[in-house]
Amino acid sequence: MQKHVLGFPRIGAHRELKKALEAFWKGEQSLSQLDECAKSIRLNNWKTQKDAGLSFVATGDFSYYDHVLDTCVMLDAIPGRFRHLPQNTVETYFMMARGDQETGIHAMEMTKWFNTNYHYIVPEISEDFQPKFVGRKIINETHEAIEAGFNPKPVLVGPITFLALAKGKNGFDCWEKIDAVTKVYAEVLQEFSGICEWIQLDEPILSSDLAPGGRAAFANVYQQLNAAAGSAKLLLATYFDALDDNLDIALASGCAGLHIDLVRGGANLDEILAKFPENMILSAGMVEGRNIWKNDFAKSLTVLRKIQAKLGERMMIGSSCSLLHSPVDLTNEIKLDSTIKNWMAFAVQKCVEVGMLGNIASGIAYDAELEANRKAIQSRHTDPRLHCHAIASRVQAITDDMYQRKSPYKLRKQAQAWLALPLFPTTTIGSFPQTAEIRRARRDFKRGTLSNTDYQAFLRREIADVIKKQEALGLDVLVHGEPERNDMVEYFGQQLNGFCFTENGWVQSYGSRCVKPPVIYGDVSRPAPMTVEWIKYAQSLTKKPMKGMLTGPVTILCWSFVRDDMPRSQVCKQIAMAIRDEVDDLEQAGIKIIQIDEAAFSEGMPIKERERDEYFNWAVASFRLATSSVKDSTQIHTHMCYSEFNKIIRAIADMDADVISIESSRSKMEILEAFRDFEYPTEIGLGVYDIHSPRIPSQNEMVSLLEKACAFIPKERFWVNPDCGLKTRDWAEVMPSLTNLVAVAHELRKKYR
Ligand code: GLN
Ligand code: ZN
Repeated sequence: MQKHVLGFPRIGAHRELKKALEAFWKGEQSLSQLDECAKSIRLNNWKTQKDAGLSFVATGDFSYYDHVLDTCVMLDAIPGRFRHLPQNTVETYFMMARGDQETGIHAMEMTKWFNTNYHYIVPEISEDFQPKFVGRKIINETHEAIEAGFNPKPVLVGPITFLALAKGKNGFDCWEKIDAVTKVYAEVLQEFSGICEWIQLDEPILSSDLAPGGRAAFANVYQQLNAAAGSAKLLLATYFDALDDNLDIALASGCAGLHIDLVRGGANLDEILAKFPENMILSAGMVEGRNIWKNDFAKSLTVLRKIQAKLGERMMIGSSCSLLHSPVDLTNEIKLDSTIKNWMAFAVQKCVEVGMLGNIASGIAYDAELEANRKAIQSRHTDPRLHCHAIASRVQAITDDMYQRKSPYKLRKQAQAWLALPLFPTTTIGSFPQTAEIRRARRDFKRGTLSNTDYQAFLRREIADVIKKQEALGLDVLVHGEPERNDMVEYFGQQLNGFCFTENGWVQSYGSRCVKPPVIYGDVSRPAPMTVEWIKYAQSLTKKPMKGMLTGPVTILCWSFVRDDMPRSQVCKQIAMAIRDEVDDLEQAGIKIIQIDEAAFSEGMPIKERERDEYFNWAVASFRLATSSVKDSTQIHTHMCYSEFNKIIRAIADMDADVISIESSRSKMEILEAFRDFEYPTEIGLGVYDIHSPRIPSQNEMVSLLEKACAFIPKERFWVNPDCGLKTRDWAEVMPSLTNLVAVAHELRKKYR
């Protein structure tokens, strides 16, 4: 039985690529040093796959920034604003990804790859796009693999997915380019004929909602591609969900193989097996590419045997999706609790799992390994830390009224009059600049060279300082600035039961940016207050209302690796109860305003539209559970980083926060469209200061954004604030920007009084 993975992480086990890229961008390293680093990562990845006994190694999955951007280069889909630059160079490539401060050329847009935390560069396609086979990266890397003695399986983003994800400029319909794009793909595939057994074409869009244009084009496109591939066989790779509506076109694609995700999309395996064409091979995606848990061999083998019984030899085994979404190598985890470590598998270990499962399914004995796997799985399921009776019964006992604030917003608004806020109240989103000094103190404290007492004293000084600054600026609702937090999820995870942390569990988020998600392995609870002392201290320094700052349950869930032995909705409920406890304690401590950030609220959305309602039901419920215990007179805020707000405005309104702050300045208030046919019921602060840019917004531009918004939102419900937290900015930018922001609010107050 053939065995493979759909792709491998490209950052390197110690984030070598990140370091090399950033050094190159700063001019500290030459291009050849960067190339050297990249080459060694590729060779390492291939060696890992080969050593694991996989039948071939993925090529073309490596990228300096993003594989969708690589596909743009391959097809010569270069937006007009980069055309005057030297073409097909690494400098122009990075400029497309990152923009250019000096010349003011803006980067291509970036967005999330389906429902993962990986971000891809959105192809921009205009009417004058003439697809040409320009970027030969995948060809070169495939030859590189062959020369190094590996058996390559090139991996490409398929043409249907590419165009489905592309954005047409000025309303252009990208599907008009499908024939021309297919021709280029055909040229690329021809080069592999005779040198590769398999070519993998990733079409995850088939597991999502594919537009009619794509469905209509599909059969013809794949007919041409199959013809072009010659002796090489095409593996049509789908993942992240079941095929459902697109199953029939996938089965009729004429490709030699179809890969399906049996972890997230196994629901219709029976139907697939019943309909499976005689001349097709099924690649069974058994080993989850998106988490850190060991595969349950016994379970997987049951499924594999079922497929085998129907298809016999006509199958292979793979990872569910590319391993891009899991950390690289578990062996680098030295400090992790050894019992928990034994429950885990990172990308390197997942390759071994695929290899082993394939061998076992083909009849090779692995008794010791099977037994070890069984024991590890059992150890996890029986560990007392996984199931805490008290937590389970507490969640069981949740009653409907716990999801409801005491009164509707209108009455709450009256009860909150004691806050004595002016019209157009001003506030910030929570964090203030995390200066070099703050980062140094945190590092020294972690290393043990700064004592706990000194560190606490340092943080108190920081808090006192940002309060003075905010008072001087004249902001209405103050924050403590979050100097004690390195990360808005990790900070809470570290204080909650049921979480653990890796040292090197990095996953690429975009370009050189990586995240290290906490791991939720067991029942979640809050042993002690997490933020109360800080907020209380901050409130003691000012008469103005201090906003207590928490991260919401949905965001904590979305930005963690989550246990897979319990529905996500259930884990989310447990987190919500822990946050609810914290909200109660803050209120008890006299905090009048509490903000619960849900920056990742829309990220948890399933990729299929028809499954979204169910998600929003439990996500909204979790937020309400976390926030509804307070008195009417306590004001609940939430914050969201902008992401398709317009589509989900109703769900957001359902969260029933008294105030929401949301990003909107970059899109020039495009967000307002949402308010045309839906009256948002509570208060809202539309960000007028783009904190992703070092630029200081002028009063005029903020006024014009706010004037626009005033046409849609009643003045009594309108807040003035930046787009997001200020932690990545410098004080030199923040002070003048906030000075302008406060001045603008004053101006509006005068005008609309
Ligand atoms: N309160 C957080 C901050 O200001 C919110 C961050 C976010 O939304 N990503 O940093
Ligand atoms: Zn934000």
